[in-house]
Amino acid sequence: SPAATAIIGAGIAGLACAQNLNAAGKAVQLFEKARGPGGRMSSKRRLQAIFDLGAQYFTARDAEFQEAVARWQQADCVAPWPEKLWQASPLGWEAQHDGQLRYAGKPRMSALPRYLAQGLAVQTETRIEILERDGSQWWLIDSNAQRHGPFAQVVISTPAPQAQALLGEWAPRLSEICRATPQRACWAGWVTFTQPLPVLPGVPETWQIARLAHPALRLMSRNQTKPGREEQDESLSLIAHLDWSEAHLESSADEVANFLLDALRSVFPSPTHLPEIEDLGAHRWRYAQPAEPAAFQDEGRLVDFHLESNGLALCGDGCRGGRVEDAWLSGHHLGQALAKT
Ligand code: FAD
Repeated sequence: SPAATAIIGAGIAGLACAQNLNAAGKAVQLFEKARGPGGRMSSKRRLQAIFDLGAQYFTARDAEFQEAVARWQQADCVAPWPEKLWQASPLGWEAQHDGQLRYAGKPRMSALPRYLAQGLAVQTETRIEILERDGSQWWLIDSNAQRHGPFAQVVISTPAPQAQALLGEWAPRLSEICRATPQRACWAGWVTFTQPLPVLPGVPETWQIARLAHPALRLMSRNQTKPGREEQDESLSLIAHLDWSEAHLESSADEVANFLLDALRSVFPSPTHLPEIEDLGAHRWRYAQPAEPAAFQDEGRLVDFHLESNGLALCGDGCRGGRVEDAWLSGHHLGQALAKT
């Protein structure tokens, strides 16, 4: 319908926005370049293991987000995880008690975006490249030169640099906001083993996730300890530091994976023999996290999305902060605002 809204990007922000419009009876169409929804909450299956490639867990500090998480727990696509965070170093492991509840998608991080996408119109494997204006209507042109439209409104929920490319000359204020929100890069590796990791002196047997004092490796998590994955073999997600990732941005995925594996070895007491490796790899997130959270105050009100009078809008983690919760809130608030128009 000519009053319809297009949403570019089916990450958690775009999905949260779409849900509000859909609930208000408004026509909404999502376009996603990947094979499925989820964006930086994606998971990968290799052999017997499912591991998370982006976010490993999320917090719920905001009351509205906590209510949403409670609904998702009811729907069994989210569960509390981990019980504890550890700080690991060759000198020893320490539990970090910050009182913060954390959650993971069940049985994979992408289960949550997939759940949110149910009942929504999501056109996957469609990369939007150009926005065109025809009178008061918008048309979207994808990488196969297909035209989609017309739409009264276009929400861009992609990382800011990709949003900026799409905005072109149509919205100088939004382009400037994107320009001021660079995204940091991050390498995320994985390794799966044929046997469980050995029980080592000084290392808690039931550890689920650990932060590391290592120049390359920032975080490692055990995917088989996540909710709904008890049956799978030992597999670790290895999240690199942003600075290290940017210094190794053009390295090959193989090189990076091996580097992260060496970093992993170095945090266990030596000599530790890791079990036989089944699979090892790495994924480069060119736009992993906004450098500067861009939510700002306007007359005491938090502004975490942007809407122009010509119907273009921006939401996503870059509009608020670098977390799943921020991305959801940004998209949710934009969706609420659009549902009223
Ligand atoms: P995205 O998830 O990036 O969604 C944008 C979507 O737009 C993508 O699906 C993309 O494919 C699509 N897209 C882009 N361009 C186009 C186009 N031209 N046409 C069509 N589609 C397009 N957060 C936490 O809370 N806790 C964590 O522990 C955590 N760890 C992280 C670890 C890593 C390695 C990474 C990368 C991120 C992590 N985050 C974490 C951040 C969190 O994942 C993000 O803040 C959040 O998922 C962003 O959601 P979004 O909807 O704003 O963007």
